[in-house]
Amino acid sequence: MHLTPDHCRIGRHHQRIMKAAAAHHTPAQADKRRLARMLKTLRATAPAVKVELDHHTPWELLVATILSAQCTDQRVNQVTPNLFRRYKQPRDYACADPSELEALIRPTGFFKTKATNLIRCAKVVTEQFHGDVPDTMEALTTLPGVGRKTANVLLGNAFEKPAVVVDTHVKRVAGRLHLTRYTDPEKIEMDLRALLPADQWTEGSQRLLLHGRYVCLARAPKCGHCALYTDCRWEGKTAR
Ligand code: SF4
Repeated sequence: MHLTPDHCRIGRHHQRIMKAAAAHHTPAQADKRRLARMLKTLRATAPAVKVELDHHTPWELLVATILSAQCTDQRVNQVTPNLFRRYKQPRDYACADPSELEALIRPTGFFKTKATNLIRCAKVVTEQFHGDVPDTMEALTTLPGVGRKTANVLLGNAFEKPAVVVDTHVKRVAGRLHLTRYTDPEKIEMDLRALLPADQWTEGSQRLLLHGRYVCLARAPKCGHCALYTDCRWEGKTAR
């Protein structure tokens, strides 16, 4: 076939379209790439991350997570050594004297509610799960005092199942980084799940959590020292 100047023009136009299409990323793809880049940056500063609540068994992690509501992990870690010495198995908590349990967990705040939840939760684990903490979202969220966040902490850190934990830090950081437009934790969880491969759900959300706890603070984020500064989309970030 003889190529006319028109054929060549159409060919170049087609090439430009193909090139533009290859360079184009939908917002979700762009956010996936941006989140992957940010996690890579965070990995470079802290190679390994793990939940900061001290524990040896799934039950101990469940107890510590229930105690961590409205309380710092450090404070919980000060309380649990004595607690774990006094009560070992779920059945020990199930028949604990409420006032003795309350006294042991008092420094974590809301100690009456937490003691009630621990005793009720221990009874269900003992009676319905043969003393073993269940390892599915459905079963975990049937336990008194256990919501989706606590269940995800257990799934990801005690049972090594992919799980996105959305606590107050993850909620704030995901919002500031424009990884979600929601404030509802379950919707944020779904957004982060969609942006990450499943084998990075636990590690990725834990990194966002630690970034929020130590750098992207609620009242005075340390933007000047933030490794994610370039990728941060928050209009309120402080200038460098
Ligand atoms: S630049 Fe500031 S607001 Fe953005 S992630 Fe870092 S600390 Fe948070």
